Amino acid sequence: MKSKLFKAEKTQWVIPCNPAYYDVCGVFNKLDKVEWKQSTNVNEGDIVYIYVTSPIKEIRYKCVARKVDLDYADTEKDREFILKGDNYENCGRYMELELITKYKENKFTLENLKQNGLKSVQGPSKVSEELANYIKSNEIDMIKKTLQEENNIAYDLKNYIDKINVDESFTYKYDKKKKQKYTIQNGIKTYIRDRKVAMNALKKANHKCEVDSEHEVFLRRNVDVGYTESHHLVPMAYSDIFDVSLDVEENMVSLCSHCHNLLHYGKDFERVLEKLYYERVNHLNKVGIYISFDQLREMYL
Ligand SMILES: [Zn+2]
Ligand SMILES: [Zn+2]
Repeated sequence: MKSKLFKAEKTQWVIPCNPAYYDVCGVFNKLDKVEWKQSTNVNEGDIVYIYVTSPIKEIRYKCVARKVDLDYADTEKDREFILKGDNYENCGRYMELELITKYKENKFTLENLKQNGLKSVQGPSKVSEELANYIKSNEIDMIKKTLQEENNIAYDLKNYIDKINVDESFTYKYDKKKKQKYTIQNGIKTYIRDRKVAMNALKKANHKCEVDSEHEVFLRRNVDVGYTESHHLVPMAYSDIFDVSLDVEENMVSLCSHCHNLLHYGKDFERVLEKLYYERVNHLNKVGIYISFDQLREMYL
């Protein structure tokens, strides 16, 4: 199925780095922010893939440009990694790159990249749609491999729900939300979730199951609304491959316990997922989350 997968909000770049001049692997073992020579018009928020040149010849790092057009770099922090200074000191324009992901060896090799839309690594270049999609599908696989089962699927809102006014209603705001902070738990990046968002999503659905509003739900113990569970349609674990936050009401569905478990553990999850996807896709697009059904399905397999 041909579809526009993961249309990126921000421009993505491949920028080569010669490890004989700058020990990029060393620097990213120590720091997660570096000031980098900026030789092209990168904008704040753009994604930068660092291609490490010979003898490695692979994209190894994914970064986001936090600050651009800086006229000064503080080389104290990374001085020990500058192997041939002329290239990195006094080069006029700098940007601050923050490391998002380190890729494993033999993943994005020059050969693979070339077969999937990379034209040249002689200098900075924009990532083509073909290459962006190739990288994204691989990222899905990689995340899936390291992903633990969502352990708090019920994401219990019992205590929280008691405190809020369940009579007021909620409508989508369509704000493209910035990504939230993350913590590292057991070596896995976990993005902080906002309970209020989950709550709003349940409210929006009138505390009914969005697979079928006729599904039977029991009443919550302490407040007179149906018990449904909030679920991120595009799973939070995939946050790194989107430009915007996935923790938004537009990406959250309200499900009865049965449908929620079916979606996570059931053989017949696709039918449910498909229904939810097509009901939500327009809302997702409005908050900057672009994904095809096939890509979403991949994330659940
Ligand atoms: Zn879930
Ligand atoms: Zn249901």
